[in-house]
Amino acid sequence: MHTAETHRQASTWQNVKNKYLDRGLCHACAGQAAWGHQNGFSSIHEPCLACQPVVDNLPVDKKGPWRGIDASGWGRKAEKGE
Ligand SMILES: [Zn+2]
Repeated sequence: MHTAETHRQASTWQNVKNKYLDRGLCHACAGQAAWGHQNGFSSIHEPCLACQPVVDNLPVDKKGPWRGIDASGWGRKAEKGE
């Protein structure tokens, strides 16, 4: 009962979340950041107090309190280890 499209979107979201987990964000904030890449960083919650210093060290300026990682070059096989 799932379409190929929603499955693809979900796996992309998971891949992006994994990139933020690699940077040291908690699961909640990594998930928020992954949503930010898909839906805009102005539509997500702020990072938690523990993650804010980590977010502050990310390279790309985003909306509000958020910074992010470079999304260019993610297109096709950005996954690693799978
Ligand atoms: Zn957090």
